[in-house]
Amino acid sequence: MASIALENVTKRFDDVTAVDGIDLSVTDGEFLVFVGPSGCGKSTTLRLIAGLETATSGSVAIGDTDVTDRDPSERNVSMVFQNYALFPHMTARENITFGMTASGSYANGEIGRLVDDAAATLDIEGLLDRKPAELSGGEKQRVAMGRSLVRDPEVFLMDEPLSNLDAKLRVEMRRELTALHEEFGTTTVYVTHDQTEAMTLGDRVAVMNNGRIEQIDAPQRLYDYPATQFVAEFIGSPAMNLLPVEIEERGDHPHAVTDAASISLRDGPELDALGQSRATLGIRPKYLSVVGDGDSVDGDTVDLEVDLVESMGDTLVVHGRAGTDHLRALSYDAHLPVEEGDRVSVTYETDRIHLFDRDTGEAIY
Ligand code: ATP
Repeated sequence: MASIALENVTKRFDDVTAVDGIDLSVTDGEFLVFVGPSGCGKSTTLRLIAGLETATSGSVAIGDTDVTDRDPSERNVSMVFQNYALFPHMTARENITFGMTASGSYANGEIGRLVDDAAATLDIEGLLDRKPAELSGGEKQRVAMGRSLVRDPEVFLMDEPLSNLDAKLRVEMRRELTALHEEFGTTTVYVTHDQTEAMTLGDRVAVMNNGRIEQIDAPQRLYDYPATQFVAEFIGSPAMNLLPVEIEERGDHPHAVTDAASISLRDGPELDALGQSRATLGIRPKYLSVVGDGDSVDGDTVDLEVDLVESMGDTLVVHGRAGTDHLRALSYDAHLPVEEGDRVSVTYETDRIHLFDRDTGEAIY
């Protein structure tokens, strides 16, 4: 096992800056997930750690060793790819052991024992003599994992390893990856564009955007305390509501004002320090509640003209307009009697309101 440290790492491809001055430190035994939209630089960062790309500037260390100029084979990392990268003409066993016999670093019989151990862990003992064409997607993925496991690397690097699997198998493999990590405790860096995978697998999650890390934190903290508007929008489903507001003192209380609503904010030193009157207000749909007939209302409300109601089976997403803004409210009552065209009131949890700087996107409240 080993820690990983990236210092001010930049990678340019001609005029594209894929990775833009990243600092990162992954602790020994940690499971770190990179998540972000397509093209944000996740795979390039992983490939820089693997040695499959060379940094334009900056340094990469694994454990105490600076590996910036080392080949992939000299880094003791093992990479699992999205497309499994199995040789079609070889059996699962041959794929798992490929290159090990030639390396000469294994004693007689040791390779067979390592394969048997990995196959038992991954439950693929009965598949070792099959070729990739005779394996399902999930089985191919297990073989690819087996190839990594037998090498007992210091670091596992995984690039969207589950993206070719159907939804049910992805959930199952997610559980297995967690179990494998608990068993072996190998430092793991994992790339995905799927926020559910990121949130469920990562000890910490790094959200990337435009070649930079916007925030790196424990999953729940990313959700509760997004450091930027980008993170707030990217993490959580349905996505956080975001609306431009003016901050005004009304009565003895600060309010965030739109053309159709005046939303009271909790008073406090952060707000005094704000020093600006314009911001973007963020609140997650689950913290907006549609007021039903006969519900008693405690606090302020916002009026909503409902233009869409989506049923998720166990929840409802109520979409509506409040003046020029569009809002989503999540209701845990799937049978709430609301339909398109209704006018409803929604209450909001003042403690769950975020404010972001309209120019920089940084969280200011
Ligand atoms: P995805 O989720 O789509 O795989 P990603 O976040 O992993 O995206 P990267 O593959 O790291 O993104 O790519 C980051 C940027 O660098 C993109 O703009 C991409 O087009 C560019 N890029 C990546 N590899 C190369 C390359 N070999 N040559 C030129 N440009 C590249």
